[in-house]
Amino acid sequence: MFDVIIIGAGPAGLSTAIEAQKAGLHSIVIEKGSIVNSIQHFPAEMSFFSTPELLEIGGLPFTSSAMRPTRAEGLEYYMRVADFYKLQLNLFETVVSVCKQENIFLVQTNKSDYQSKAVVAATGYYDNPNILGIPGENLPKVSHYYDEPFAFYQQNVAVIGGKNSAAIAALELFRHGAKVTLIHRKEKLSDGIKYWILPDIENRIKEGSVKTYFSTKVCEIREKELLLENDGGERLTIPNDFVFALTGYHPNMDFLQNMGVEMNPETVEPKCDPNTFETNVAGLYVAGSIVAGKNNNKIFIENGRLHGKAIVGSILKR
Ligand SMILES: Cc1cc2nc3c(=O)[nH]c(=O)nc-3n(C[C@H](O)[C@H](O)[C@H](O)COP(=O)(O)OP(=O)(O)OC[C@H]3O[C@@H](n4cnc5c(N)ncnc54)[C@H](O)[C@@H]3O)c2cc1C
Repeated sequence: MFDVIIIGAGPAGLSTAIEAQKAGLHSIVIEKGSIVNSIQHFPAEMSFFSTPELLEIGGLPFTSSAMRPTRAEGLEYYMRVADFYKLQLNLFETVVSVCKQENIFLVQTNKSDYQSKAVVAATGYYDNPNILGIPGENLPKVSHYYDEPFAFYQQNVAVIGGKNSAAIAALELFRHGAKVTLIHRKEKLSDGIKYWILPDIENRIKEGSVKTYFSTKVCEIREKELLLENDGGERLTIPNDFVFALTGYHPNMDFLQNMGVEMNPETVEPKCDPNTFETNVAGLYVAGSIVAGKNNNKIFIENGRLHGKAIVGSILKR
């Protein structure tokens, strides 16, 4: 019997586990992949947008020689923190259901069953890409995740999206010899693009290095071309070898919904106390980016890492 089971070993889950351990609670983190699994799947050469101190958890300093640490530095840091606190992590184990009987939670995974007095869902959003829902989206040349540019040298690559991930992918692909087309359904790039990325992508668009279609949707992905349609209803086809559909991600709320957690129907934000992150199901908490539902630009590592302290404070009071 655990005092608290934390689902997900991202920054929010790890920081909650540290707070639980500091408070003397018997806890475990169950993670379906590796430690900080989402960050493991970020683009290989990426740098964080945040400066290192804003990514720290457990009060341990995160040092980097650069203003913005790299993904590799982030991975090393979170592993060292987990080692330092000797957190109990069950990695490569997936939680498949949670149910509550009397006041005890039964957590079922693909390997075992557990019981706990409280559960924290810190499952993030990165596993679930927003699907375009168009013909050809399942072709093997289409990916909703961008990793690195080298394989796409001299290839016709389409990047769909208009936010940071799309801008960064388009720039990297262009700089490594791909023929890049950026396609965005809105009339301009997102205002949320970081100030150090925006002038670069805008200038590459202006000079024609990254051919861009604004106010345009992809209607169909075919083996060797894409069918596009602009807001005026005009259609055209462009040659295409590979597609990166970087149109965002959303959290999987299935098991919270099955537990009776109420959601905002539009944003799928789980109903929770803003001070303790306890949902309407007593003893069931949410932590990290899942708290914002689909609005995953509202909660990220910088602020999601702070949820654990409030959650553990509430568990102790219960
Ligand atoms: C390219 C990129 C760059 C970013 N840069 C920054 C930045 O510079 N600064 C910043 O603050 N934020 C940044 N973010 C956002 C940030 O990464 C996320 O907000 C953050 O990872 C959310 O943390 P989390 O712990 O809530 O979720 P996650 O880190 O996504 O962790 C959730 C974990 O739950 C696990 N999980 C899911 N379902 C189950 C299950 N059923 N059973 C067991 N485990 C499960 C997942 O495998 C995952 O490891 C960036 C995001 C991207 C995509």
